[in-house]
Order: sequence, then C-alpha cells, then structure tokens
Amino acid sequence: MNGEEKTTLALFLDLAGDYLKDGYKRDRQYTPGFFPDDAVPSSLPLAYQVDEDEHDEYTNEPFDSPELKTNDIDTAIRNCRACALATVKKNAVPGEGALHPLVMVIGEGPGADEDSSGRPFVGKAGQLLDKMLASIELSRETNCFIANMVKCRPPGNRDPDPSEITACFPFLKQQIALLRPRIILCAGRVAAQNLLSKNQGINSLRGEFFSYENIPVLCTFHPSAILRDESLKRPAWEDLKLLRAKLNSSENDA
Ligand code: SF4
Repeated sequence: MNGEEKTTLALFLDLAGDYLKDGYKRDRQYTPGFFPDDAVPSSLPLAYQVDEDEHDEYTNEPFDSPELKTNDIDTAIRNCRACALATVKKNAVPGEGALHPLVMVIGEGPGADEDSSGRPFVGKAGQLLDKMLASIELSRETNCFIANMVKCRPPGNRDPDPSEITACFPFLKQQIALLRPRIILCAGRVAAQNLLSKNQGINSLRGEFFSYENIPVLCTFHPSAILRDESLKRPAWEDLKLLRAKLNSSENDA
C-alpha cells in the first residue's frame, strides 16, 4: 500500500470512528502523513539507503543517480502532510533546475502562481529572478536549481511560520546534500535567516559570503522586494557581481 492509499484509509477510519462514536464529524487540522517507510521527514531514507550497484529496471539508471533521487524527494514532498500547509496548498513545489548546479537559489515559499503551477518562481518575481540570473550567465535550464524553504504555499503570501520551516527543512537539506551546488544564493530575509540560523535583517546579511555545510552562501533581496522598491536594484546587482566573481574564482581553482 503506498502513502496516498494509507492516507485515504486513515481518513476513512477517522470518519468511521466519528460516526460510530456520536455521529458528529470532527474537523481535523490536517490529514495524517505517510511517507515512504512511514518515516517522518527528518528521518526519510529516500534513495540514500539503496544499494548503489542496483539499477532501475525500466530506465537502467543507477539508483543513486541525481535524477532518481530528486524524483524520490519530489514524490515525498508531494505526499507530505507534516505541517498544516498541506491542507491549503493546491500543488507542492519541490523545486526545479539543473541537477549539477553552479548555484542553488533558495526563496521563502511558493506564491499563488507557483501554487497553481507546481513550479518555483514563475510569477513576476520569478521572471525578474530569471533576468537577474541571466545577467550573470546563469539559468534554471542549464546551471541553477531553484527551491524554497517551504514547499507548500503559506496562505495569503504570509511568511512561513517557524514550525512550518522546521517541518519542511529536511527536504531542503536533502536537496542541498544531493545537488551539492557550488554556491547557494538566498533570496530574501526568510531564506537567509533560516538557512544560516541568524537573526539579522537582509540588509545586514547581504553583500558577504557565509557558509552552509561548507558551501559558500550569499544573501540578497527577494525579487518581490525589488519589484516593490526599485532602489534595491543597485545593491542587488552588486550582490550578483559578487556571486559571479566567486564563481569565476572557484572555476579557476577547479
Ligand atoms: Fe510537508 Fe513542507 Fe508542504 Fe509542510 S510545507 S506539508 S513540511 S512539504
């Protein structure tokens, strides 16, 4: 029985229990979550525990290939019920892009356009992000991966709350471990503060490199903030130049 079937069965049993007890259907905050092997996200085995010599019988891809592992993570995200955002989302948004990225961009969470499409950064802010990346020869088609701190949309575009970020963080952690980007770019305060475990605002965090799991991390303004305030364009451009220079120096070192 797969996770979706288990969830359906659990919902049915809850409903039957309500009717047998007193005939009153109780509202539940969110549905039970079942993951592969019934693990919670922090201990999700995903594809990391498979025998590296085994191959997928249909594609003949080795089981430890980034393609199959990201597919496993995406499936776990789409089946996830670990926080209340699962009940209000239309689509989970695992992330997309190159599987051996130079840069991994991390935003805070999906907005309305992303929730509808299941893809990250596709609204006006996403179009601006694509332009910003293109200005330093980066793109999600070739050398960037785009993801968010939380994979389901917080209602009304509010910031994800700390419990939602904590519940979702294992997925991002696994994506970073699998993709091993050369540099991480945090777009906005929420991603910057939570990835780096810092409290300062984005104005303090931008413009210098930090480190996460030995990967250099640069923070800059979220494209939505730049759309609201044009004066942020220049400092954001300075950040992008810094990012390009770091990439160039790491390419020279390689
Ligand atoms: Fe699961 Fe993350 Fe979606 Fe919450 S936001 S339901 S933890 S995938």
